[in-house]
Amino acid sequence: MRTLTNYIDGRHLPPANGAYLDVTEPATSGLLARVPDSGRDDINAAVVAASAAFPMWSTRTPAERSEVLLRIADGIDARLDELAVAESRDTGKPISLARTVDIPRAAANFRYFATAILHTESAMHDMGRDCFNYTLRKPRGVAGLISPWNLPLYLLTWKIAPAIATGNTCVCKPSEVTPLTAFLLCDIMAQAGLPPGVVNIVHGLGASTGGVLVTHPDVPTISFTGSTKVGQWIAEHAGRMLKRVSLELGGKNPYIVFDDAPIELTLDNAVRAAFSNQGQICLCGSRFLIQESIAVRFVESFVERARSLRVGDPMEATTQHGAQTSREQLAKIESYVQAAREQGGEILCGGAPVAPDQLPPRCKDGLFFEPTVIRGLPNDCRVVQEEIFGPVVTIQTFRDEQEAVSLANSTPYGLAASIWTNDLNRAHRMGARVDSGIIWINCWMVRDLRTPFGGMKQSGVGREGGNEALRFFTEPKNICVRMV
Ligand code: NAD
Repeated sequence: MRTLTNYIDGRHLPPANGAYLDVTEPATSGLLARVPDSGRDDINAAVVAASAAFPMWSTRTPAERSEVLLRIADGIDARLDELAVAESRDTGKPISLARTVDIPRAAANFRYFATAILHTESAMHDMGRDCFNYTLRKPRGVAGLISPWNLPLYLLTWKIAPAIATGNTCVCKPSEVTPLTAFLLCDIMAQAGLPPGVVNIVHGLGASTGGVLVTHPDVPTISFTGSTKVGQWIAEHAGRMLKRVSLELGGKNPYIVFDDAPIELTLDNAVRAAFSNQGQICLCGSRFLIQESIAVRFVESFVERARSLRVGDPMEATTQHGAQTSREQLAKIESYVQAAREQGGEILCGGAPVAPDQLPPRCKDGLFFEPTVIRGLPNDCRVVQEEIFGPVVTIQTFRDEQEAVSLANSTPYGLAASIWTNDLNRAHRMGARVDSGIIWINCWMVRDLRTPFGGMKQSGVGREGGNEALRFFTEPKNICVRMV
């Protein structure tokens, strides 16, 4: 078992209060590590280190910063195996997913922003006579970066990379549930030549560690990914201090299938969208809206594919469906399935934790839940309206485009929608009418890092990715010049 440390000013340090939290492996419920349960003193020390590093780091040229970020990306590639094992043991996700998606995408985050900053432009407005204006974009100072447990390394690096590429320094608070990859990243960053204090990582609980970071007077920028409930708390407290805040929050994403959809492709992606990472991706489709005329055939094939997913030890290369990441999460999933039963929902497959005798001996105490498909629930019930964040999807049917739009837009969320049709005009109409920050047409989870990423309604405020991130982490100063 490892005892993890904070990373402050380039040094691995224990928490000032000496307190630790247990980190367990979801696939076995065994103890995996101890992580600092940091408090105000550790956050303060990290902010002091980040503030001290800011004048040096913010005045490096983009080319100099770019080189360091590229070396971090190379360092992640070089330690792919070790990081994938840590990611899989920490989260319960299949190692194949960690190896092919999470870790390579973390390296891609650094590469993308390392090169993006070499190609930025700034506006100039010529007033015609003797005056002109130009916009100078400057890094904002110390950024507070707070990330969740479902894609721990990917989402943390999605914040660190644009923050430091643009010359900010930062204090990160990874999820206390899955701290391993953030811990490994510290040495990768140091070996890449990132100066001490530019990135500081402080582990601990949400309210007592994250909350102190959010309200710290010397941290003017907060980028948060996590639940809508915590996002609302952050909006309120950071808002009062007039901080710049980006909030990437929960979702209840529709997966909309019209009767002219390319059916095999739609089904293959439907299973990925519903059950990847055991349904614990904010972008997962969780409300399946199927056109009436194909519903029976579609649902039959979908359920058959869900049943055939290989559930097992996440560390096995062939496993497709691993463990839920925490006991709280498993209990939450069970309570929603129970609510579905009480509402008269028909469980078409799954509906229960995986029986221990269906699992390898190592995993008999693990947090496994069967891929679950439920039909026949009213649209206004909790199971259809609220984010479950597990391998549980509901099926509803619609008659026409109008009804599909109205069902799609009927929850408080608006993160991602996937729309399947061969009708080009309908695809564009739906794209414009569905209230969602991200719309995928005939695909799911295709990511181009240049595009704005984020949700509408209760799914978030602000956008990350591409130029949006470069803007978020910089302050535009308008400079008006008179030529005399
Ligand atoms: P969470 O909100 O409980 O925690 C997220 C992070 O915030 C953790 O590091 C936690 O310790 C910290 N935190 C908790 N309370 C805090 C507080 N008062 N002040 C500061 N920090 C605090 O979310 P979670 O359970 O870790 O993650 C799951 C949620 O994240 C789901 O709702 C999911 O949809 C969402 N999510 C959204 C996106 C997106 O891009 N929109 C991506 C991934 C996950």
